[in-house]
Amino acid sequence: MNIHKAPSTIEKLALMGDSTEFEPAGDRPRDEKRLKRAQSMPCVTEVATPTGALPVMKTMITTACERNCFYCPFRAGRGKMQRVTFKPDELAATFDQLQRAGIVKGMFLSSGIIKGSVTTQDKIIDTVEIIRRKYGYKGYIHLKIMPGAEFDQLRRAMQLATRVSVNLEAPTQQRLDALAPKKNFADELLQRLAWAEQIRQTGVRSSSVTQFVVGAVGDTDVELLALSERLYRQMGLARAYYSRFNPVSDTPLENVSAAPAARELRLYQSSFLLRDYNWNVEELPFEPDGNLRLDVDPKRAWADAHLRLAPIEVMQASREELMRIPGIGPRAASSILDARRERRLTDLSQLRTLGIRAPEQAAPYLLLNGQRPPTQMRLF
Ligand code: SF4
Repeated sequence: MNIHKAPSTIEKLALMGDSTEFEPAGDRPRDEKRLKRAQSMPCVTEVATPTGALPVMKTMITTACERNCFYCPFRAGRGKMQRVTFKPDELAATFDQLQRAGIVKGMFLSSGIIKGSVTTQDKIIDTVEIIRRKYGYKGYIHLKIMPGAEFDQLRRAMQLATRVSVNLEAPTQQRLDALAPKKNFADELLQRLAWAEQIRQTGVRSSSVTQFVVGAVGDTDVELLALSERLYRQMGLARAYYSRFNPVSDTPLENVSAAPAARELRLYQSSFLLRDYNWNVEELPFEPDGNLRLDVDPKRAWADAHLRLAPIEVMQASREELMRIPGIGPRAASSILDARRERRLTDLSQLRTLGIRAPEQAAPYLLLNGQRPPTQMRLF
């Protein structure tokens, strides 16, 4: 007789494995795969959170899905995919066990869509209600918001979670049609990010983020970054994630080439210029095809074009002007402003003591006390 034994929750988590590998959860998304703990469970990833790096349980309510996004390993009809589903109380209890054992210190919870977005969102919320209420967990939780989730569901999710994600996937409806033909860009996705900002205005503190799949369907950097700028300025977005496309076998995009890792990096660098350095998207050094150069940091490319012939005087520049110099970020700019109230800055070595790690790289773009700083060839 063939007796079928249902897998335990831990076995299901192992079966689910690295299911959220392509969904960043924290503040250093490009490091998340690298920081995975070899000795730990496959669902545990080291994630940079606002309170430091934490081992986070990244998992899904279900890896089954009724939608058919062209890039996704969980899409409906992908026969090779083994599907795993959790009940909210089962997943909550397992998280509690792992959390009490010190194996995880946070949760990222996503899901495929089964019986509609509203039903699926309810399961995500139910899981976290149990974790917060029954088990009294107060730490980091990052929840996915399903396309088309209701306003009250979003509000409840934001009351429960540290952070919520509404993944736009693409910068326009046209690009989204080529990636995820059953998703509606404005009504199902963008509207939820606008609601998230509206909900924050009522005192709910959860942050909101989004993710783009980059490089599968002709999307350009200018499209992605123009939308990112709008989201930062108008919808209070905490950050945009740019996940380079990687083809998955047995999907409609399996023969499309992977996007280069350098593109992801240049998008993140540009996104920080928009969010943290107050740049406008028009100032970014796009090539005629609407993309950034892959071989150079966008801030350096801008400085090469604008500052080599008109360097910035460190003793007189405003904070924003100082942050235009490659190698000088918000913290270093503040240190310079503090230091120059007390003394003249005349030497690159003084900049090093103010937290600028490689002042010789900033040297071509600045003046110290009216002089171009002498630069030496590095011997070692
Ligand atoms: S809705 Fe989500 S899980 Fe389902 S196919 Fe699309 S991306 Fe994958």
